[in-house]
Amino acid sequence: MLTPIQKIESFVLKEKNIHLFIKREDLNHPTIQGNKFRKLKYNLAQAKADGKKTLLTFGGAFSNHIYATAAAGTAFGFSTIGIIRGEKPKNPNPTLLFAEKNGMQLHFISRSEYKEKQEPTFISQLKELFGDFYLIPEGGTNDLAIKGCEEIPAEVLEQKLGPDYYTLPVGTGGTITGIISGLAKKNSNSKIIGFPSLKGDFLKGEIEALLKSPHTNWKLQTDYHFGGYAKHKPELISFINEFKELHNIPLDPIYTGKMMFGIFDLIKKGFFPRDSTILAIHTGGLQGIEGFNNRFGNILD
Ligand SMILES: *Cc1c(COP(=O)(O)O)cnc(C)c1O
Repeated sequence: MLTPIQKIESFVLKEKNIHLFIKREDLNHPTIQGNKFRKLKYNLAQAKADGKKTLLTFGGAFSNHIYATAAAGTAFGFSTIGIIRGEKPKNPNPTLLFAEKNGMQLHFISRSEYKEKQEPTFISQLKELFGDFYLIPEGGTNDLAIKGCEEIPAEVLEQKLGPDYYTLPVGTGGTITGIISGLAKKNSNSKIIGFPSLKGDFLKGEIEALLKSPHTNWKLQTDYHFGGYAKHKPELISFINEFKELHNIPLDPIYTGKMMFGIFDLIKKGFFPRDSTILAIHTGGLQGIEGFNNRFGNILD
């Protein structure tokens, strides 16, 4: 299925003569949803080909990737184990409840242990504890995930759109790496702008390391993290609520809301030349809204 591309209409866009489209990756699967589905696709195929029955992965207590992996277990017939950063909460949040309901075995480890998650000794300890499994890294980012994300721009070209700019939110950098390499394979000269939802300058180097060859048509807009991962400000919340009311498209507060806020802010500041076409990737993450509202008092509509 090709995920729909919708045009966003608004006064500012008309005034600045910008054509803004959104690719609804949040509609690509009913439960796995968004870029996490793209990232899991070839990993699930590989796990099956390797004869693995169990998927094991890592994440925080509100992680979209944990949610998606649990959903993928149900949808594709794998057992799942989630290694969760931090202490077990007294009341499980909606993400963890969903994971458990989908049969995911949750294993909580301290933040310091969590830092060891890529160490071979730690992984062999996990094998002793849980038996054989197919390992998916935190956030789902690996070469097969990047291969899955390369299909997003390939689809856009099939849908006959050649935007001047692709924009997307960035966490570990796996998805943007796939967009960059996918566009390069199609000899596209679109530019790619990533909006990190984390604070810090480490991401550029990590994306460069994930890319097999250097590319110059991408950059990170680091001004829209709102204080860091899972941090927010009132103007972000009102923007997300207003966007939903005006366009009937829900955005999440961790990733897609920050990106869309950034796009409109940059448009107002005249960053994009007149007559530019922008394609924003809606990477999903909508499962996080309920847990966010539980924590912060139902501020998102
Ligand atoms: C995980 C996630 C991202 C970040 O993707 P990376 O490949 O880790 O950069 C962006 N948006 C949403 C909604 C996500 O769930």
